Amino acid sequence: MPNEISERLRRSAEQVIPGGVNSPVRAWNAVGGATRFVKSGSGARITDVDGRSYLDYVGSWGPLIHGHAPREVRDAVSATLASGTSFGASTSGEVSLAQKICEFFASIESVRLVSSGTEATMSALRLARAATGRSSIIKFAGCYHGHADGLLVRAGSGATTLGVPDSLGVPPEVARLTRVARYNDLDSVAALCDDAVAAIIVEPVAGNMGVVPPVDGFLAGLRRLADRTGVLLVFDEVISGFRLSRGGYQEICGVTPDLTCLGKVIGGGLPVGAYGGRADLMGMLAPAGPVYQAGTLSGNPLAVAAGLATLALLERDPPYERLERSAARLQAGIESLLAPSAGCVQRVGSMLTLFFGVREVRCYEDALAADTERFARFFRACLDEGVWLPPSQFETWFVSTAHTDADIDETIEALGRALRARAPI
Ligand code: PMP
Repeated sequence: MPNEISERLRRSAEQVIPGGVNSPVRAWNAVGGATRFVKSGSGARITDVDGRSYLDYVGSWGPLIHGHAPREVRDAVSATLASGTSFGASTSGEVSLAQKICEFFASIESVRLVSSGTEATMSALRLARAATGRSSIIKFAGCYHGHADGLLVRAGSGATTLGVPDSLGVPPEVARLTRVARYNDLDSVAALCDDAVAAIIVEPVAGNMGVVPPVDGFLAGLRRLADRTGVLLVFDEVISGFRLSRGGYQEICGVTPDLTCLGKVIGGGLPVGAYGGRADLMGMLAPAGPVYQAGTLSGNPLAVAAGLATLALLERDPPYERLERSAARLQAGIESLLAPSAGCVQRVGSMLTLFFGVREVRCYEDALAADTERFARFFRACLDEGVWLPPSQFETWFVSTAHTDADIDETIEALGRALRARAPI
């Protein structure tokens, strides 16, 4: 049976949507499968249009820290919906969400809401360039910060210093302003960090090459380098913000960035991003200052309501210890299935990745050595076993508060069957 309705939808989608999807990774090209269409989600599970149910570890790529459709978020959105969806004028919810973000993030004195993580990083870098009067930025190979031109630069093998665009359509003149360093390698940053650089932007826990934790001293070292050279430090906590702790990873590592980008969890599954930081910097934004940035739907009432309800749940019942325990249980279960040479599980809190064929991943080059063929077979076998993983070796699996111990144990058994069936160790 199987995927009749999904197949029909996919063929229709391909006629009218480029590649049949509105965001590339949804097409499952990396794992050689035909994407399945999702009909609904509840708690830790989703159901596809053909009626199959899966334990979900994508979690909409990070926002759904409480799982799918938690009652509190649904109620908040429904209540707001009745009063109108958007006004293009200020509403009280925006103030409350900004207050919550400033309350929880010690480094954020003032914050601007936008509609996506891409807008947040792009705007934060414009602000950093304005504040420093410099044009170049440093990013890390394997870190993703959305699809703005200057950030779609990763450096292929060998190109460690010159920005090389990852996408056609990015002008080389723009890409040249992006310098690419190696994650967890301070020397590679020091070699690039001079008085032409406006900002270093970094995922404090990398989640877009699979999960790669920062090694001891890496983030503090970035802070020192930035201070020494008058560069601003931008933490992209679009994934890690409110997921690893209420104050983001910066609260855990004790390093204070100048600017922070947020998204995902603060929108509770609706489109929200945010960037914030020191008041003197944020005060440069229009209309207070000369740096322009705007948005018709910025601070959208429905998205803000979903975000506020999500943060209220985090405040009422802090889930971080529980998430740590559940994700550690999943990690231990997977490790018990794998021979040490078969791969490794890297995890920070409720973010984890199973890398095949490598023993440790500290940077993008390490990640690229992983066995993607094997991951693809494993991914497809997991689907057959009712487990929905991110469709790429280089992504983060997200555990939510909706995943019970029984769900985790069911997942481990299913992964064990998948490993035996299609990705033998
Ligand atoms: N920064 C990081 C760290 C991300 O993971 C993402 C998206 N996965 C973005 C920025 C871009 O966010 P969005 O897709 O909402 O534009």
